[in-house]
Amino acid sequence: MGMEQRQAVIVGGGASGLMAAVQLGRLGIRNILLLERAQRVGKKLLATGNGTCNLTNLGAIPVHYHGVGAPAFVASALEAFSPRETLAFFASIGLDCAVRPSGKVYPLPEQASAVLDCLRLEARALGVEERCEWEVSSICRGDNGEAGSFRLEGAAGTIRTPVVLVCTGGAAAPALGGGAYGYNLLTALGHTRTPLFPSIVQVRTETSFVRSLKGIRIDATVRFMWNGKPVGEETGEVLFTEYGLSGPAVMQSSRAVGDWERRRSGTMTAQLDLLPGMETEAVRHNLLRRRELPGRTLEDLCTGLLNKRLGQTLLRAAGLVPLARPAESLTSQEIDRLTALVKGWELPVTGTQGMGGAQVTAGGISLTEVDPRTMESKIVKGLYITGETLDVDGDCGGYNLQWAWSSATAAAKAAAESLRGGKTSGRSGRKEKRK
Ligand SMILES: Cc1cc2nc3c(=O)[nH]c(=O)nc-3n(C[C@H](O)[C@H](O)[C@H](O)COP(=O)(O)OP(=O)(O)OC[C@H]3O[C@@H](n4cnc5c(N)ncnc54)[C@H](O)[C@@H]3O)c2cc1C
Repeated sequence: MGMEQRQAVIVGGGASGLMAAVQLGRLGIRNILLLERAQRVGKKLLATGNGTCNLTNLGAIPVHYHGVGAPAFVASALEAFSPRETLAFFASIGLDCAVRPSGKVYPLPEQASAVLDCLRLEARALGVEERCEWEVSSICRGDNGEAGSFRLEGAAGTIRTPVVLVCTGGAAAPALGGGAYGYNLLTALGHTRTPLFPSIVQVRTETSFVRSLKGIRIDATVRFMWNGKPVGEETGEVLFTEYGLSGPAVMQSSRAVGDWERRRSGTMTAQLDLLPGMETEAVRHNLLRRRELPGRTLEDLCTGLLNKRLGQTLLRAAGLVPLARPAESLTSQEIDRLTALVKGWELPVTGTQGMGGAQVTAGGISLTEVDPRTMESKIVKGLYITGETLDVDGDCGGYNLQWAWSSATAAAKAAAESLRGGKTSGRSGRKEKRK
């Protein structure tokens, strides 16, 4: 097959690849090729925010990012292309957005497809060529290993380019295209990958009591305890499932569980406060009053206070059986035991639902090997790495897509500059504010 020559090639048509394509095009780079291994670009993007796409968060600052050295690493790219700039950028490609009180930003039509469509329309208008079902299987440095000359190989042929942007995403959600592809391309070139584990993921627990609660959603505080020390906490919706716990509060606080599962050292426990709005003493008094309600058995002791099935399960977990027992027979010590469970029900954690259930990959290409202002590899000049492929993962709430947009913009600007021989162009010529 013939050898094709391009001015810039983007590997991966996901969030950061599409952003990089548009930014390169806007900086006047022509003859850009976007390669995507799947049948279509943006498959994962379409699934974000349950199909509504939480595309950024106005509070996207470095503390929301994790990975070895991540907070310091993300700072300059986030400052150079902040959530405000993300909003302005999307407005400029015809996507209106709504900012929620939480700071989360969604497209006004609440459709992830609107984000993808607007990015693709802009890329096409800028002359970017999109080619699907084209998997890059290796990236080779120029024939004599000279800087800035690459050969990209795949089953469909070979492409030459002076600049390559690796926007291949992470290992999370293989059903949506996640995998080790990008890590493999980069480790073959001498890069290091830190250990991977799932984050923003459902949690498996010991199920003897939980299983009967399948499908129940409650507002609770979930706190994960690693060897008795709190390592993650969130208040919000918790969903009981046949394998354990899901729902936004659990997913948001799950990162340490993935880390623990990888290391397999010590114990992990999920502690649930089932009435986060009520102090322990208030719960105890409430239960003492319920004991006095005429004619009640334990079966209905908590009816009206907690989800009925949840209340009964807690009584069983506290060993307060049979449920046909009269409520008035409860001793103060038994009420204390029940109170303790309502405010801190402990479930032994057995793991996570793995990369299959995860929204993001923790771990990735080591940040010490990449320039934080330009995303250029320090190992391979002319090669840029963006998004989830790097050892950066954000909290749940629009932070991961903001990282995709910011890192792609930094990479595109630097790549465009290098193609121009180091001169800054009109739109990218803004002075760096920080060193
Ligand atoms: C269910 C779900 C919901 C989410 N919701 C949100 C949300 O609401 N807000 C948020 O901020 N984040 C969310 N995320 C996370 C967010 O989607 C990702 O962090 C983000 O898409 C990462 O962007 P990326 O460009 O690095 O990778 P991706 O968007 O995954 O794109 C990588 C692309 O590269 C392609 N590719 C890989 N290897 C090759 C190769 N060798 N050759 C050619 N192509 C290749 C892949 O097929 C893929 O299309 C969600 C994730 C999931 C799974």
